[in-house]
Amino acid sequence: MWRCVSRGLRIPSRRSTSGGSFSHRFFSSESKAGGSAYTIVDHTYDAVVVGAGGAGLRAAIGLSEHGFNTACITKLFPTRSHTVAAQGGINAALGNMTEDDWRWHMYDTVKGSDWLGDQDAIQYMCREAPKAVIELENYGLPFSRTEEGKIYQRAFGGQSLDFGKGGQAYRCACAADRTGHALLHTLYGQAMKHNTQFFVEYFALDLIMGSDGSCQGVIALNMEDGTLHRFRASSTILATGGYGRAYFSATSAHTCTGDGNAMVARAGLPLEDLEFVQFHPTGIYGAGCLITEGSRGEGGILRNSEGERFMERYAPTAKDLASRDVVSRSMTMEIREGRGVGPMKDHIYLHLNHLPPEVLKERLPGISETAAIFAGVDVTKQPIPVLPTVHYNMGGIPTNYHGEVVTIKGSDPDAVVPGLMAAGEAACASVHGANRLGANSLLDIVVFGRACANRVAEIHRPGETQKPLPKDAGEKTIAWLDKIRNSNGSLPTSKIRLNMQRIMQNNAAVFRTQETLEEGCNLIDKAWESYHDVKLKDRTLIWNSDLLETIELENLLINACITMHSAEARKESRGAHAREDFTKRDDENWMKHTLGYWENEKVRLDYRPVHMNTLDDEVETFPPKARVY
Ligand SMILES: Cc1cc2nc3c(=O)[nH]c(=O)nc-3n(C[C@H](O)[C@H](O)[C@H](O)COP(=O)(O)OP(=O)(O)OC[C@H]3O[C@@H](n4cnc5c(N)ncnc54)[C@H](O)[C@@H]3O)c2cc1C
Repeated sequence: MWRCVSRGLRIPSRRSTSGGSFSHRFFSSESKAGGSAYTIVDHTYDAVVVGAGGAGLRAAIGLSEHGFNTACITKLFPTRSHTVAAQGGINAALGNMTEDDWRWHMYDTVKGSDWLGDQDAIQYMCREAPKAVIELENYGLPFSRTEEGKIYQRAFGGQSLDFGKGGQAYRCACAADRTGHALLHTLYGQAMKHNTQFFVEYFALDLIMGSDGSCQGVIALNMEDGTLHRFRASSTILATGGYGRAYFSATSAHTCTGDGNAMVARAGLPLEDLEFVQFHPTGIYGAGCLITEGSRGEGGILRNSEGERFMERYAPTAKDLASRDVVSRSMTMEIREGRGVGPMKDHIYLHLNHLPPEVLKERLPGISETAAIFAGVDVTKQPIPVLPTVHYNMGGIPTNYHGEVVTIKGSDPDAVVPGLMAAGEAACASVHGANRLGANSLLDIVVFGRACANRVAEIHRPGETQKPLPKDAGEKTIAWLDKIRNSNGSLPTSKIRLNMQRIMQNNAAVFRTQETLEEGCNLIDKAWESYHDVKLKDRTLIWNSDLLETIELENLLINACITMHSAEARKESRGAHAREDFTKRDDENWMKHTLGYWENEKVRLDYRPVHMNTLDDEVETFPPKARVY
């Protein structure tokens, strides 16, 4: 078993560059698990952020600005985080193109969420949005401009004026079709101005939880040399992104493996609303790469094999700019009814060839290139073959609008877990509810990354004394890691992963039935079982990608199991969760958030209420009504 062979060997403190903050200390010791020695290095910070995508960087910038000694741990170099791939833009009621109001944006977001979103959190996000975008502009983000030099805003799906009565809104600020690239590099530049200490290519394994249920930090593996690092902190902020790679065809990076979600689940805390998985209507057929909704925002049109602009039938007002769940379902129905394109009649065409070449060049240069490389298509002349592709996880780690992680405690459905916060795609605030509107995620990551930092500043002081870590902090994790590293079963990681991805793709798809979901639960539980028979070939601790991919597989499997079981249980259709056997939204029984726990390697479900209240009287609650576009 795990044994500490020497403890407390002091290594000279590596001072942070913060000019005067000494609260960062680290110690090294050795431990033995299964006969292997592990070197453990201890660090103490005021705050530790896990993840350096948009959410993690914005949180880290805020924490450093407030004077907190902050560590940011990331398995990727920060500018390689998936945020870099975001194309279309970021919503805010700036009113640069037409009159606009954050309340209209809030209405669209509540409607987009199919009334599963928490209205206090949605109010917070939409009201903060104009400030957040101006802040990004001040940080130097090179937004596209109008003739007058204002930030250009394009049309995006599900965005309207005047509470749905005033037609299409132009609310999505962008930097051509490379908004995420511009945003992430801008935030990284800002982070460099501050004293955040980056731990790059460190893989966070688990949370360190105190006996009182509070979070005291994380334990991470240095991928380069195999040392283990315990980060003690008063505040731990998870910003680890989504888990799109649980599916076979996804627009997200191969690194989107839901690690933070799985860390939370392993700590005995719930994950919220995982059954809501967004399919983006326009992934390139076969390759899965994204063609931004901005292409339809600029005038792109979907057509079936008869050349018909079929979205006019499904969404007479918003047409191709209806919300993503609606467009994905409509495309799937067209294909099912035999009106798909191509030799197999199994996809749809997205036409941009009627748009002026100057518009394509100026506003959509990135996807023009992507279409040429991955579909061999010249967008000025030919349509792009597209298919709904997994794109975003609405569910995640439940938080309130401050970013504090919440759970059910006794009769309190909103009990805060002390010391633990989450932001970005890993979190579920829940501003997206059952369906996220395009360009609301880049907004979510900056608004709630910042909210986390502000909340920490409200409840903590820089340099505060911290409780010592529990004596056995990290022991279980090291034993777990050691077991995985020495796994000697019969199945390679890649085989189990492919099986999981196929099950998710087939059984938790755009349309779902009791039959597909029950079968899905059965199959995904078996996939989890098969994971016990995994085999690793590489047993070293230096750049062991076999080991890291296996940990990621375990994390994906936990997310996948909770997703499938949550979906099976929800007997209604709402947002992205479309059941053919329960075609209606059922507010009476199902207007509630699912909480999925991972207990003894099985899923247990519970529920908590949706917040129907607003923060103050600047806006009134939007009561549920039918959702038509
Ligand atoms: C192709 C594409 C286009 C998109 N376009 C748009 C758009 O135009 N507008 C919009 O609003 N949204 C868009 N989205 C969604 C949006 O980009 C993402 O939801 C958002 O960027 C996620 O940001 P994040 O900071 O939460 O996570 P990410 O950017 O995914 O970052 C996750 C971070 O966590 C770190 N991490 C993860 N696990 C670990 C671990 N175990 N240990 C240490 N570090 C870890 C990673 O290193 C990384 O730094 C798009 C998404 C995709 C896939």
